[in-house]
Amino acid sequence: MTEQYYDHFIGGDWRPPATGEYFDSFNPATGRPWYRAARGNHVDVADAVVAARNAFSDGIWPRLTPTKRGKLLRRLGDLIEENAEELARKESLDNGKLLREMLGQVKTLPEYYHYFGGLADKVNGELLNTLDPAILNYTRREPLGVIGAITPWNSPLLLTTTKVAPALAAGNTVVVKPSEHTAASVLALAQLFDQAGFPPGVINIVTGYGTEAGAPLVRNPGVAKIAFTGSTATGRAIAREAGSRLAGVALELGGKSPNIVFADADLDNAATGIVAGIFAAGGQSCIAGSRVFLQDSIYDEVLAKVVDRAKSIRIGDPLEATTELGPLALREQVEKVERYVELGLREGGDLLLGGARPVGQGDGWFYQPTIFTGVENTHTICQEEIFGPVMAALRFTTEDEVVRQANDTEFGLAAGVWTSDLGRAHRMAESLECGTIWVNTYRAMSPLSPRAGFKQSGMGVENGPSVLNEYCHPKSVWVNL
Ligand code: NAD
Repeated sequence: MTEQYYDHFIGGDWRPPATGEYFDSFNPATGRPWYRAARGNHVDVADAVVAARNAFSDGIWPRLTPTKRGKLLRRLGDLIEENAEELARKESLDNGKLLREMLGQVKTLPEYYHYFGGLADKVNGELLNTLDPAILNYTRREPLGVIGAITPWNSPLLLTTTKVAPALAAGNTVVVKPSEHTAASVLALAQLFDQAGFPPGVINIVTGYGTEAGAPLVRNPGVAKIAFTGSTATGRAIAREAGSRLAGVALELGGKSPNIVFADADLDNAATGIVAGIFAAGGQSCIAGSRVFLQDSIYDEVLAKVVDRAKSIRIGDPLEATTELGPLALREQVEKVERYVELGLREGGDLLLGGARPVGQGDGWFYQPTIFTGVENTHTICQEEIFGPVMAALRFTTEDEVVRQANDTEFGLAAGVWTSDLGRAHRMAESLECGTIWVNTYRAMSPLSPRAGFKQSGMGVENGPSVLNEYCHPKSVWVNL
């Protein structure tokens, strides 16, 4: 049993949970707990919202000059850079993703704090034309108040950052409820906020389960908007609850992304992109390219390349530099993958690769890279998000046909297109119903570019210059001259 306990971070202090209870957080590579986090409930959440509210209405944060807010955000970015190794290690121990992958991700975070820090003093209103020359009309963009940020376990710091950085840049204060599976790195981030000199209450972190700590945050009338990343089912529940009190919501949800290879593509690059698209992070990525569409004439060739590469993926300890695939983050996640593989077989699919837990990995929560053929886009494993290393290979003949199939899903998060035909690339970018399209690449993401899921993949936008509008009220001021 671990001796390490983590408390909530509220109003600049580390506070034990109101109930005195803590819960275990597990290392997926060993299946054993490695620390205990405060089991937050509505009392802790209410305290955190009051702290955030006070920091907002006392004006400590919104009335700090925007340049000073920006400077603090940029300083935080520098501190993250200095502490990247430690933060990445915590993420890897918590969610089982490769240390080098988490380090790569953590090293991008300073760019987010630098970028949004740079936008803090550019939250301007506008002077508008009027129908009456005796009237002056201008707008102000004012912060909303307290933002509740609720995040999943697959990229804890990145998905906290995509909410917290723009929310703070616009002058809001924040209460974060990280996933109950991966709180360690987010709590470490709180220390850096403190070290950077953010006033108390500007950022608060309450750990705990979704129903015990997340739901009270959504219900709390002191919270102006919920920024959420997680499953579509939870997103719908949050939207219903927030809607009942007319609070704002931004939802980044699940996906079932197509990765489409045309015969005219560079097939080696495409095979590399397919393998990275689905097997990086063990497929536990909202943008996982889980439906791979291959044009008839190159179907066998590309599939052979993909299988060849997937076969040689080294499974093991995510902290080891040579490992290419770590464990899944949760025991339940392995069981979920097993259920989908059984279902895939029952529905008539054939297993070309994998389909089982690997041997020799101790008690860790590992699963082999798995490839299905003989499935159709209507099959359950092609329609539901598995969130594991399971790829379905599908065959197509024409551009129109693949567009129809790729769009035939309730999700609309992302898509990959592999082609050397420029015209086709742009036609596909227009026809695919999803928020992000990658052409001859996969997974690129930056604070400068918006991410917004179509259909059941989300509502609202993260990243890009216009995201500050998501965290501001426009106010129209009319003056009789
Ligand atoms: P989840 O929905 O189970 O949990 C996400 C967060 O919501 C956790 O912090 C959880 O405690 C909290 N929560 C659960 N029930 C709640 C409730 N009733 N009220 C308030 N909060 C509640 O998701 P997960 O399993 O942690 O993450 C995986 C999911 O996240 C996948 O579906 C994945 O596609 C999605 N995801 C989406 C994006 C994106 O940008 N679109 C990015 C990463 C992950």
